[in-house]
Amino acid sequence: MPFKKVQKIGVQLKQVKGTATEASPQIGRLVGAVSHVNLNIIRVALDVPLATLFDYTVAEGVAVAIGQRVIVPFGRRQMVGVVMECVATTEMAPERIKAVKQVLYDSAPLSAELLGLLRFCSDYYRYPIGPTVLSALPTRLRLDKPIISKVILSYRLSASGAALDLDTFPKRKVVQRRILAKLAEQPCNLVQLKSLSATAGAQLKVLVAEGWVESDALATSLSPACGGGEQHTFDNAHTLTDEQQQAVDAVTAAQGYACFLLHGITGSGKTEVYVHLMHSVLQRGGQVLLLVPEINLTPQLEHYFHNRFPEVNLISLHSGLSEGERLHNWQQAQAGVAQIVLGTRLAVFAELPRLALIIVDEEHDSSFKQQDFLRYSARDVAIFRANRRGVPIMLGSATPSLESYHNAQSGRYRMLRLTGRALAGARLPAVRCININQTVMHHGISENLLREIGQRLARREQSLLFINRRGYAPVLMCTGCGWLSGCKHCAGKMVLHLNDQRLRCHHCGYQLRMPHACPSCGNADLLPLGSGTQRVESVLQERFTEARILRVDRDSTRSKRAWQMMREQIHANEVDILVGTQMLAKGHDFPALTLVGVLNPDGALYSSDFRAAEKLFAQLVQVAGRAGRADKPGEVIIQTAFPDHPLFLALQNHDFEGWAASQLAERQMAGFPPFMYQAMLRAEGKQETGVYAFLNQARAAAVALRLTVEILGVVPAALPRRANHIRAQLLIQGAKRKDLQQFLCAWQPLLDALPAQKLRWSLDIDPLEF
Ligand SMILES: [Zn+2]
Ligand SMILES: [Zn+2]
Repeated sequence: MPFKKVQKIGVQLKQVKGTATEASPQIGRLVGAVSHVNLNIIRVALDVPLATLFDYTVAEGVAVAIGQRVIVPFGRRQMVGVVMECVATTEMAPERIKAVKQVLYDSAPLSAELLGLLRFCSDYYRYPIGPTVLSALPTRLRLDKPIISKVILSYRLSASGAALDLDTFPKRKVVQRRILAKLAEQPCNLVQLKSLSATAGAQLKVLVAEGWVESDALATSLSPACGGGEQHTFDNAHTLTDEQQQAVDAVTAAQGYACFLLHGITGSGKTEVYVHLMHSVLQRGGQVLLLVPEINLTPQLEHYFHNRFPEVNLISLHSGLSEGERLHNWQQAQAGVAQIVLGTRLAVFAELPRLALIIVDEEHDSSFKQQDFLRYSARDVAIFRANRRGVPIMLGSATPSLESYHNAQSGRYRMLRLTGRALAGARLPAVRCININQTVMHHGISENLLREIGQRLARREQSLLFINRRGYAPVLMCTGCGWLSGCKHCAGKMVLHLNDQRLRCHHCGYQLRMPHACPSCGNADLLPLGSGTQRVESVLQERFTEARILRVDRDSTRSKRAWQMMREQIHANEVDILVGTQMLAKGHDFPALTLVGVLNPDGALYSSDFRAAEKLFAQLVQVAGRAGRADKPGEVIIQTAFPDHPLFLALQNHDFEGWAASQLAERQMAGFPPFMYQAMLRAEGKQETGVYAFLNQARAAAVALRLTVEILGVVPAALPRRANHIRAQLLIQGAKRKDLQQFLCAWQPLLDALPAQKLRWSLDIDPLEF
């Protein structure tokens, strides 16, 4: 879109209409400005923590489109930014406005759809527009230099390039001349241009920087895999069950936006529903976005969908990719060449010109929520995106979040159920509890459970012990004086790691050599309290000397390949007993696994976080789902001091509905989400007085606004001190999303104006961590 004066004025007038309250003074200013100032002004999003766009001028005749990247001077540096608006006037004095240094024609401008989505996120999550826009881009596009992409982009002459007279073009610039001549005939991609000369890539960069050559990301004709409407073969080996078929039919019949909640028990074949839906979208030439919670899951899912759709161009987007890969994949999505985009939460910001379906798998998973910077929920943003775009979205889970479940029950979403296991004859695992107060325990493992593991060993079946604590023991205690291994920087305890004889803080990373005597009284008798993965591993090693034991946690899977290799070992049945944290719970199929032991789930039952029980239920259903997926029946044994707790009873009866109903009733009574909408203001700093003074002032400002929200008290965070910083928080609740948003709109400028030296604060909308 070239920059034309007529358009500029049109845009500006529309904006004036939009801001009704200030319309008259602005019109006055605008008319005055237009008659005096004759500037081409663009408003640019920059990665600086200010909730504003920045104005720059563009020389007459330079083509700038909204969504294009530009390099601009900022202070003493130069920065890359994204053009958000083209306007005719500015409030800045004309002599103070700087000129754009370079317009980057190296990639296609961001679409109006994506920019609209990012504006929404910036508003809704109360995060500055510049960092919001820039954080959505792959790193390479955030650098202040042009990129040259490999195959997807096609290059062609720009208007100014076409106007060049090649006869007068400098003779010594041989390669540039060749490129220009070639492009005068037809658009080419980089590979074609490189056939002209080995230095074509570098010379092309020069031509692009001069503005003589521009790229076109929608070079769909270049890829054999893309284009709409052709027939795809896909591996359709599985016959759908009636319930699966109904789910597929419901979504395929949807006209425009609709949100479906696919509630399917573990092993009910949700993935098969996804495959059939994808197939129908691909046949119509659309793109599918599939969001998954866990980066560890993407390689195996990628492999799986590749096998099901052998001819389809599937790409993944997640933070584990190299910068080059991520850029390449992002551009394939942007060009419409990638038909299936599989990714973690950041993929929700992928450009998808032919997007026709979004699927969010394991929608309840809290890793869809980003916990810093732009604190967005990828699931919620995906729903908003589907709505704006007018396409269906499917949320899938065996244990839906209570928010989604409530929405499905109240009719905002449509509920689709898969109640039977897809494999004929496969049964849900039997769940039973062992009361840890009425049985013999060996360092955290009951005799009964050990006996069961022994039986599995004899039958050459696998067992999994699930424990949510890595390390050897959660804390080291002195038997003499009661000293506990607290972290000197945090309110938490240091975890004992026996392999390397260290105490480690899992909150701040601080570590110490394990003391040989009590630092407080000198007593040499120090006792590890509680169990972590390493301790469980060593107890098992003592008892089952012949067994092959594998520990899977963040410590043992630090390297990129480690987890992949472990999975191969498990599948090859080279492992007898698995010991692991929640990493093991998510979506991995281990056909020989028939026993799951859950070691210490009780902490979550009485947590201060009102979602702890919901999370525990989901986690236990997930980990239980690992047992007996093939033809062998599975068994789950839970060690607890509260075997009669409703959560465990619901689990034994596989009764999600009953459990959800009781939880929702409790939430409604207590006034918690999904019946309330929340925003959390968090602050942390070295001085306790400063942190609390800030939050108390913020609270006073909130109260003074007299809006229809509930303002709670200032309280310490769940971990009140981390890395020597005091942490506290203030919760705001509204009965309606609109009420809360209206309040936040009024409150945030007041927060920005509060003195906040030496402390960090942030707003978290729809917070998940308490
Ligand atoms: Zn002591
Ligand atoms: Zn610490």
